[in-house]
This record gives sequence, C-alpha cells and structure tokens, in this order.
Amino acid sequence: MLCYKRREDIVRFLKIVKAQGKKLGFVPTMGALHDGHMSLIAKSKSENDLTICSVFVNPTQFNHQEDFDKYPISTTDDLLKLNHNACDIVFLPEMIDIYPNGTKNTKLPSLGKITSVLEGAHRPGHFDGVAQVVGLLLDIVQPDHLYMGQKDYQQALVVQKLLEVEKRHNTALVVCPTQREADGLAMSSRNIRLSEEQRTHALGLSKALFYIKSNYKLCSNEQLIEHVSQLLREIPELKLEYVSIASQAQLEPLTSSETHEAAVALVAAWVGNVRLIDNILL
Ligand code: AMP
Repeated sequence: MLCYKRREDIVRFLKIVKAQGKKLGFVPTMGALHDGHMSLIAKSKSENDLTICSVFVNPTQFNHQEDFDKYPISTTDDLLKLNHNACDIVFLPEMIDIYPNGTKNTKLPSLGKITSVLEGAHRPGHFDGVAQVVGLLLDIVQPDHLYMGQKDYQQALVVQKLLEVEKRHNTALVVCPTQREADGLAMSSRNIRLSEEQRTHALGLSKALFYIKSNYKLCSNEQLIEHVSQLLREIPELKLEYVSIASQAQLEPLTSSETHEAAVALVAAWVGNVRLIDNILL
C-alpha cells in the first residue's frame, strides 16, 4: 500500500497512473475506520484498477468546535485496516495540502434546498464544508468513481448535486449500503465515544427506523412519526432532533397520500454528547 501525505506527490503519481489508462476509485473518509468504510473500499476495488482512500478530518464541516476537537483519530489502526483490506493508496493530507489558500478562499457552489433541510437545518454550514472539501479532494484525485455511504444519505444527495452543478469533475458517484452491527446500530466513527449504556440507548434510532419500515403504509406517516418520536423521547440520555419520512430524491417531507414517491425515513438524535444519524429506504 502506498501512502502519500503531500498534495504535489499524489498528484504527480496519479498523473502517471492515469496516463496508463487505469481506472481510479476514491473513498474519502475522516478516519477512525470501521467495516462501513471497508465496504466502500471493497466496492471500489471490485470496480476500479486502483483504490485511493483519504483520511482527513475536515474542520470546515463541523458546526460545533467540541465535536471537531473530540473527533476520534486512530491513524495507525486506520493504516493497518486499509492495508489488511488491500487498499492501494492512502492519502493523509495536512490542512495546507487541502486548503493552500486558507479555508475562506474557496468559492462555494450554490446547491439549493437540499443543503438547508434536515441535517442542513440542524447543522448550519455543514454541507458548505462538505461540498468544499469534496470539491477540493476531487480536484486532487480526479477519480473515475467516488464511493460514499448511504449512512450519510443527505450528504450523498448534496455531493451528487455538486457533481451536476460544477461539471468540472468527470466522476460518477456510487452510493453503497449502510453497514450495521449485528444488533442493528449503524456503524459510525462516533460510536466509539458512546459508553456501554449509551450504546444501548443509541439502538433506539435503528429500532425506530425498522419500526417505520415494517409499518409503512399500514399507518399514516404522521402516526408513524408521532409513535416513534414518543418512544425515542422516553429513552434516557437521548435528545431527538428529528424523525422524517421524505422523498428519496429531494428529501421533501411526505404525507401518506404521496404514495407514488420513493421514500426514505431519517432520524437524528444526541445520545449524551454524541450526535448520531441513521436512515432507511422504505
Ligand atoms: P466519514 O469517515 O464518517 O466521513 O465517512 C466516510 C464515508 O464512509 C462516507 O461516505 C460515509 O457515508 C461512509 N460510511 C460511514 N459509515 C458507514 C456505514 N455504516 N456504512 C456504509 N458507509 C458508511
């Protein structure tokens, strides 16, 4: 496995590789890697000649300093996992490699309403930071395929929009299914920060989504949302931010009458001081 730290070095190397006609798959991450990330690596390996994984905790997408400060970092473990899963190239940039002109000097594209609902409403500026870092990483790597997880459903929609609006990247987005622990909890780097008890409370999120999926179209969407919200509010240490049943394409809230639209159920909640999100296609 090759490991690059400097932007110029990876750009030089990838130029040679691309001139040989090799297909590149790219998996951007913020590290603290788990099997969810590894599923993206596996998918990329199955569809490309070379797979590149970046590990960079991007400060511009955090809207709480504490969340950024406490974001888990485990570079040695990450490298071992990537090597074990036969990732070809790791990119471990510093701030200067991603933001040579500072974080304030990138022109942010306007991506419309998709950036301001749900996660966008609860985490102001979050998707600006995501669009900014993904755009800059794509400038460096210029992959054929970009692999992202359905776990961050809205993020994938925002990045798809970014690719459509900017048109400067010749990259296709591939969204991969959410990987879960055996008991249903969606894998997340933030799970490490949960105590054993909080982890049990956090199971409420996936349980709520599974309940909605099993009862979808048997009750109205309003009843489903009300029922699971009530259950979630009873869980100690859990502070619910939202439960939504929305269109898969635009994340517009759906009432039961709009049965023709493909739907997704999404949830966000704090468990202690850890913010978790999850979703399920209906
Ligand atoms: P992160 O390191 O949290 O920024 O995630 C990097 C990529 O891994 C994103 O595209 C996430 O959507 C994806 N990802 C995170 N958790 C999971 C999971 N449980 N299953 C599948 N993909 C995931």
